[in-house]
Amino acid sequence: MPPTPRSRARRRTKVVATVGPASSDPATLAAMVAAGMDVARLPLAHGSIDEAVARFRLVRAAAPEVGILADLPGPKVRAASFPDGGAAVAAGDPIELVTAGPGDTSSSARIAVAHDELVEHLIPGDRVVLGDGLVALRVEGRDGDRVTATVLSAGLLQGRPGVTAPAGRARLVTPTADDLDRLAVLLDEGVDMVAVSFVRKAADMEAVRAAAAGAGVDGDRPLLMAKIETGEAVDDLDHILAVSDAVMVARGDLGVRIPLEDVPHVQKEVIKAAVRFGRPVVTATQMLESMISSPAPTRAEVTDVANAVFDGTSAVMLSGETAIGAHPVAAVATMAAIAERAEADFDHAGWGAGLGVQSVAGGPAERITATTTSAAWRAAHEVGAAAIIACTKTGTTARVISRFRPSAPIVAATPSTRTVRQLALSWGVTTVGVPVSDHTDDIVWFAVKAAVEAGHAAAGDLVVVLAGSPTEPEPVTDTIRIVRVH
Ligand code: PEP
Repeated sequence: MPPTPRSRARRRTKVVATVGPASSDPATLAAMVAAGMDVARLPLAHGSIDEAVARFRLVRAAAPEVGILADLPGPKVRAASFPDGGAAVAAGDPIELVTAGPGDTSSSARIAVAHDELVEHLIPGDRVVLGDGLVALRVEGRDGDRVTATVLSAGLLQGRPGVTAPAGRARLVTPTADDLDRLAVLLDEGVDMVAVSFVRKAADMEAVRAAAAGAGVDGDRPLLMAKIETGEAVDDLDHILAVSDAVMVARGDLGVRIPLEDVPHVQKEVIKAAVRFGRPVVTATQMLESMISSPAPTRAEVTDVANAVFDGTSAVMLSGETAIGAHPVAAVATMAAIAERAEADFDHAGWGAGLGVQSVAGGPAERITATTTSAAWRAAHEVGAAAIIACTKTGTTARVISRFRPSAPIVAATPSTRTVRQLALSWGVTTVGVPVSDHTDDIVWFAVKAAVEAGHAAAGDLVVVLAGSPTEPEPVTDTIRIVRVH
């Protein structure tokens, strides 16, 4: 029987919290960090780019240790706004759909759709969904440029709700020109991660990667996260994962594009695939939705967060709860507490054993890294290591070993502040700072020293260290050491 690891890191599953009007002040942000926020998400779909930059700078100043994830809007079709607090529609009501003109508005009798060709391509029988799926319409016919429809399910339409039609009715390209403009501005700010909305195929992510190449602070680039929220993306998951750094199960939009009852299954499928590729995966949307107005979550919400942890998600995400809710700090604290409790029942050994050496993506460098991290996981288990120390410039080694969800803490030793913030998303990873060095022996020595100083290991402990050869032409993790701490 291997000895039990001496210490357990605190919560391993990371918490992503969306920053909006309810959380855009330094005191609330500091309280959210204290409550457990690891990553702050800035949705760029609402407001101007200047407002997004102001919010970015506010978060960076108030919470310099958290990673910042900018979420690009993507080609979402929206209705023109519903003035005066919105419009209620009832099942059976007749309603018209038209293409929005300049300055147009929508009402309970007429929805103006802000897309050049969607209304033109609707056909009788099409189901059109508004917002997050509450209100659905059935297309009945056409009268010139106007489409006539019947309301299938009642609801209140407010603001500028999304308009979702069957696939192929509107030409939608990801990334949009607006996405790329916003990306360029956020790269200059030094954003840590960028989420790409409505990805349908690997080429969509490659286009964003090309736009981000060589840009940003010091030329290093953000992690690129593919939001899985279309049926096409689910069908092309492996290709998308191969060219992405991370993924999000974006259950809100996903749930209006695939049958709702498929969402939990797709969540499990995406998490499994992301783990196989060594990519962090975020489970998102409506996790503690009732906390937008209530100080406590429902039992179902608590169970949803815990089940995402059991599924193996790297991170769980809050959206409206922290962006516009009445209890942003309590929502973060609640999510952190549920995740930590769920982890107490996580089967670390079974998870790792079931994984084996797997890496779908890549050539020789990725295969070497997959193999050394697999061996490190086994070694850590067999010697009862106090920690697995990943020496890493870009964070890749830590992300890849994290797929084993080991019981030993993963300590990433890195000279890069950018990497520290990017690893805020990775399951089980804590970070320590180390100087840059050119020799593997020095890299290992500095890393162990920093881990001990930070309290992750003590004299007499064994630690498993992963490192790369700085002289290799491409980054590769080719060294494992088992070090006895003196
Ligand atoms: C989602 O659809 O679940 C999501 C996270 O995206 P957004 O909040 O941008 O709609």
